[in-house]
Amino acid sequence: MAFDIEMIKAVYERMPARIAAARALTGKPLTLTEKILYSHLWEGTPSTAYARGNSYVDFAPDRVAMQDATAQMALLQFMQAGRPQVAVPSTVHCDHLIEAKVASTTDLAVAVDKNKEVYDFLSSVSDKYGIGFWKPGAGIIHQVVLENYAFPGGMMIGTDSHTVNAGGLGMIAIGVGGADACDVMAGLAWELKFPKLIGVKLTGKLNGWTAPKDVILKVAGILTVKGGTGCVVEYFGEGATSMSCTGKGTICNMGAEIGATTSTFGYDDSMARYLKSTGRADVADMADQVREHLTADPEVYANPEKYFDQVIEIDLDTLEPYLNGPFTPDLATPISKMKEMAEKNGWPTKIEVGLIGSCTNSSYEDIARAASLAKQVAAKGLKTKAQFTITPGSELVRYTIERDGFIDTFDTIGATVFSNACGPCIGQWARPGAEKAEKNTIVHSFNRNFAKRADGNPNTFAFVASPEMVTALAIAGDLTFNPLTDTLTNEKGEQVKLDAPSGDELPKLGFAAEDAGYQAPAADGSGVQVKVSVTSDRLQLLDPFAAWEGTDLSGLKLLIKAKGKCTTDHISMAGPWLKYRGHLDNISNNMLIGAVNFFNEKTDNVKNQLTGEYGAVPATQRAYKAAGIGTIVVGDTNYGEGSSREHAAMEPRHLGVRAVLVKSFARIHETNLKKQGMLALTFANEADYDKIQENDSINIVGLGSFAPEKSLTIELVHADGSKDSFAVNHTYNAQQIEWFKAGGALNIIRASVK
Ligand code: SF4
Repeated sequence: MAFDIEMIKAVYERMPARIAAARALTGKPLTLTEKILYSHLWEGTPSTAYARGNSYVDFAPDRVAMQDATAQMALLQFMQAGRPQVAVPSTVHCDHLIEAKVASTTDLAVAVDKNKEVYDFLSSVSDKYGIGFWKPGAGIIHQVVLENYAFPGGMMIGTDSHTVNAGGLGMIAIGVGGADACDVMAGLAWELKFPKLIGVKLTGKLNGWTAPKDVILKVAGILTVKGGTGCVVEYFGEGATSMSCTGKGTICNMGAEIGATTSTFGYDDSMARYLKSTGRADVADMADQVREHLTADPEVYANPEKYFDQVIEIDLDTLEPYLNGPFTPDLATPISKMKEMAEKNGWPTKIEVGLIGSCTNSSYEDIARAASLAKQVAAKGLKTKAQFTITPGSELVRYTIERDGFIDTFDTIGATVFSNACGPCIGQWARPGAEKAEKNTIVHSFNRNFAKRADGNPNTFAFVASPEMVTALAIAGDLTFNPLTDTLTNEKGEQVKLDAPSGDELPKLGFAAEDAGYQAPAADGSGVQVKVSVTSDRLQLLDPFAAWEGTDLSGLKLLIKAKGKCTTDHISMAGPWLKYRGHLDNISNNMLIGAVNFFNEKTDNVKNQLTGEYGAVPATQRAYKAAGIGTIVVGDTNYGEGSSREHAAMEPRHLGVRAVLVKSFARIHETNLKKQGMLALTFANEADYDKIQENDSINIVGLGSFAPEKSLTIELVHADGSKDSFAVNHTYNAQQIEWFKAGGALNIIRASVK
């Protein structure tokens, strides 16, 4: 398929020298993570030993992947960069916007109709700029990436948090915001804090009912949802090499649930088998030749405590299947303890629906093992108690499992096959009766189980498990059923036991698909018209932001002094607003509507200084914009924490906010503001936050000599005519100051192309 063999070759050619240089600089053996990171430095051959958990480093990722919800703004921004083609191989995947309601074919047709303008835009913009386009129905981004693009030792970024799935094929793959994707596609460096390293040693071998999913469910229980923050998790040991490549993908996928930057495994035979089975024998051959560089130096795994910041050891021989949940993926309960836990916590034990598949768990092996259980239903005279659904991760998997008879097997237990898309995993599940908000239990093999995530019902207790456990529990219809020890009563009243699941790792007949759903870009896209209707309410081409006027900013009005927590969700809410991700003006109607106004403790209610009236934040800001008056947003500590979504920076910029002044920033949001040409400032003295009054006019002084590490001054003119002034700090480097002057980073990139 459309992977870039020359690019992979180049990565492998440069690895040995760069790794040797890094080894010499650090003076120690290297982990796999370090080898991949040091081979992807923007500067080329390493010249510095970076401090883990401390140094900010520029990298040059090999590729970019985008899903349809986040790709819209990423590509609208990319169009602003003025480049004729993307600088690195990139792909778009239409997976998030497809609702699961009836069954695959019907649901897909509805989605294609409903989202036509978005798909037309993504298809045409991909065609024009040299981006591979995976049509709706082709599959879920991470599964398609694993099947076609991931390669051992590579580095990629993707506009989705589960991009980390590609670690299953030995990559360093990291989820980012659209602005970062845009930068890399435009040929710029990508910055990351050099991560800390957690080593997970897997001893023994998976057996019986235990699956790769149970490894990550166990790790999530140990590390919790925050334990991996700022870290890359590197798995190794005989347990790692003995499991399938797709099983490794599952483990890496759910690294997102422990907050890890990413997770990875060293290259081994399972990866070679998977590469060959998915039509990439040439990549496997090339990887074989640099095998020593695609895993850690031997001393590292021999003495992991010395080389990792933290080490966890898990014995796969004794690992039990786990059920994690409800409402959080780190509440890990081994199956033998579930009965006790459910009773103790009052969890509803009747299982309504079992859902398998998603990007996390829809490999051939997963489906084969689940099908081996479904087969036993008829053979043992059982009846499946819960509903059962399958969400294949890709058309390649769907077609192959249909050919091999698994879909027919699932039919015998009344299963519904949904589209090859995110569907129930992302709340795109039109589950009948969910609006009644009844207390109920589901089990699924996805990754996240926060309240409302699957069906929008806050009272759905969702438990995460392996596909085989989900299938067994759906057959039993009972959360407390332990298939390792318990029996079921069949239709004749006999007690029967399910045999442990079994299934091939890879299809004996190979993978197949009549139409995998890929659209290659035009060889010369210069004549391709990008399709965006001027009347669309979901898409809007961007106009470049205006350059700085060259003077201090004076007479700014205070838009809002936000009190307490103000995350990117408070600044740019999700939920119903997701629909407008590609339309900056429309989505700007959610700007700061979740922020609490310091002066009246209300959300979305601020004073319009021009009229003296209180109103919604976006409407008030639009009134200032119409009057040609700039504004300032004031905030508390860790302003902009949460997701990396660039909308939280673009919306204030679009509506005419000139500066954001806070006690402290979440770093990614601060960078996003800088990229959009905004002033991101912090109080030199946090107590000055208290000096800001509701009716203030504000001047920002010192911009004429704006320079790194040099404070600026804020002048407050209060309503009674009295004044205050104080110093404010910033973290702009010389290049970022140029972004500010030009009105945004994209304006600089565009200018450099002409
Ligand atoms: Fe994200 Fe779920 Fe889609 Fe995977 S299947 S990409 S986790 S929404």
